[in-house]
Amino acid sequence: MDKRAFRTPVGDEGLYILDTASWRTTRPIMDKSTCINCGLCMAYCPVNAVKWAKDTKFFLTYDYCKGCGICAQECPKNAIMMEKEGEDT
Ligand code: SF4
Ligand code: SF4
Repeated sequence: MDKRAFRTPVGDEGLYILDTASWRTTRPIMDKSTCINCGLCMAYCPVNAVKWAKDTKFFLTYDYCKGCGICAQECPKNAIMMEKEGEDT
């Protein structure tokens, strides 16, 4: 299939060309002691800001996280809290 078929109106990088993190006024904080590693936050995050690694399991990244709070809304264990940007450590 022609590679161009996958291009988006914002370029080859798709949504990642947008500096979505610059929109953020709140940021998600994950409580690993409550997390059951179900992966719902990763499934729902619209910008792929939730990652997984063998040693750490699910974790949040902030390069593209726009602070929408969907991960916190969907977490079945309330393991993700939204904090005002700049208030965490
Ligand atoms: S949705 Fe909640 S419980 Fe599930 S992996 Fe994410 S933080 Fe952990
Ligand atoms: S706040 Fe929104 S963009 Fe950030 S990790 Fe959660 S779902 Fe993804």
